[in-house]
Amino acid sequence: MWIRKLSLRNSPVALIVAAAIGSMLFTLGAGVFLYRSSNSLIAAASMVEHTQDVLSSLQSASSMAERVGTASRLYVLTKDEEQLNTARGSLAFLQTTTVHIRSLVSDNPNQTPNVERLEGCEVNLTRALERLQSNKELPANQLLECRKTLGLMTELERRLLKMRTELSAKTSFVSIAGELAFVGLSLAALAILFGLLLRDALRRKEIAREAALVNQELAKSVTTLKDRASESRLLTSARDELQLCVNLAQVYRAAATSLAQLLPGSSGSLCMINHSRHIVETVSEWNEGGTRCEVPEIFSTEACCGLRSGRLRWRRTKVSEIHCDHFLHGAPACYLCIPMVAHGETIGILHIECGTEDAELLVEQRIDGVRQLVELTGMAVASLQLRNKLENQSVRDGLTGLFNRHFMQIALERELALARRRQNTLAVLMVDVDHFKKFNDLFGHGAGDSVLKQVSEVFRASVRTEDIVCRYGGEEFAIILPDSSPLGSYERAEVIRQKIAEMRKASDTAYGQVTVSIGVAVFPQDGRTAETLLRMSDEALYRAKRAGRNQVVLAEPFAMEAMQLEEISQGSA
Ligand code: GH3
Ligand code: MG
Ligand code: MG
Repeated sequence: MWIRKLSLRNSPVALIVAAAIGSMLFTLGAGVFLYRSSNSLIAAASMVEHTQDVLSSLQSASSMAERVGTASRLYVLTKDEEQLNTARGSLAFLQTTTVHIRSLVSDNPNQTPNVERLEGCEVNLTRALERLQSNKELPANQLLECRKTLGLMTELERRLLKMRTELSAKTSFVSIAGELAFVGLSLAALAILFGLLLRDALRRKEIAREAALVNQELAKSVTTLKDRASESRLLTSARDELQLCVNLAQVYRAAATSLAQLLPGSSGSLCMINHSRHIVETVSEWNEGGTRCEVPEIFSTEACCGLRSGRLRWRRTKVSEIHCDHFLHGAPACYLCIPMVAHGETIGILHIECGTEDAELLVEQRIDGVRQLVELTGMAVASLQLRNKLENQSVRDGLTGLFNRHFMQIALERELALARRRQNTLAVLMVDVDHFKKFNDLFGHGAGDSVLKQVSEVFRASVRTEDIVCRYGGEEFAIILPDSSPLGSYERAEVIRQKIAEMRKASDTAYGQVTVSIGVAVFPQDGRTAETLLRMSDEALYRAKRAGRNQVVLAEPFAMEAMQLEEISQGSA
């Protein structure tokens, strides 16, 4: 409550209202004062005028009394009736004047006895003038009395006039002083009011300026928040995309797409370090900024300053003149390289190119988001690589990299089911290295391992992508050829056999020739199940061994003759 009162007291509106009420009260008081002082002034002036009227009447009365005296003396000397009449007329005028004086001094009780005495003198004078004809005596005593009374009255009125004149002067001084004070105070009140208004206007201006600044800050904050929200949405969707990827190519593509969305107006490349740890391969790119400097498909890890320093590195004109060497036609003016780290190991770099100042500003603003995206991509790459490794470990043979026996059995069941549904043929080749024990004994187990790897490479290179090559165990291999006829299977097996027989001759003669024997069983004629087909192909392999090794034998003993007859009949037709 007291806060409200205080704020009201301090508010400019309250101050202006208070000042206006104060001014009104002051003007009202000043008006009342001026009215009263003017009235006093008028009253004082009229009193002075009144006293002057009395004095003037007393003057007339004195001159009439003198004329009565002069005319009566002349009558005594000359006996001129005219003089007596003049004396009587003057006395009559004196009496009239006395009546007038009585009415004028009725407000002054000090003059009342004098007026009465004057009237008494006039009565005596009247009698004296009446007696003048008979005894010829002058009314000297009466005239003297009359003059004395008039002199006394005049003296009294003069004193009164003096007093009233002084009072009038005092009243007019007070009035003038009051008016001057009013003018002064009015000017002071106006100055205070003006000051208040000026202060209020300046404060309003200041408040408006501060409000504009606050608004600007608010607008900036809203824009930043919106930007953060959109950045966060993009990062969430990028995380979802990366989690859905099932291979590295998808991860690289998803990362580039997300970066293009996160940094509109920029361009860049995602480059990954390969297994050698010395070469970096450009795996995906984006270009939202128009022209861009090309990054080669492969370059050395030494070419990137970001990789060399192991941390994010901006390169800007006039800030740093040292730049990376992974550009085909010169380095861009402004770019950055962010190393991608997964499980403590640097696995690649993200290169971002800023073609314009706006793009540079955006990258600076969203650098945290970019870092997060790089981290997410690194994690996705690492987890996919780990998954691939684990999958390989469970289905592949560690020495040769071929599928293992467990996988072969699953794959054979699946391929057989497909062949049954499509009514296709399918061949199983059982391959065994000849006299391998002897080879090991002669050249050592390490040389034997090396031969097994070379043989595996020949198998891989000699089959189609849909064919499945497996290490069945030891120096024994099984090859599944979906949709392959007996003749086609035989020919494929023959190619493999010949390639292996040629293999050592071409590369290294120190260990002598390596040969293989191959048994072939074909679905459906040699067997309808995986077990039968494997057994039939194994039996064929056994026959190939017994027949002298380094040869291909079909499971069906008469199959070869049948195929040859068929070929002959097709040729003659
Ligand atoms: P055959 O021509 O009758 O097949 O004679 P073979 O000596 O190849 O046959 P055998 O089954 O008697 O010997 C197989 C040899 O293969 C025994 C073993 O020392 C060798 N072997 C099996 N697995 C590996 C392997 O992983 N590395 C090496 N170096 N040798 C292996
Ligand atoms: Mg063998
Ligand atoms: Mg064997």
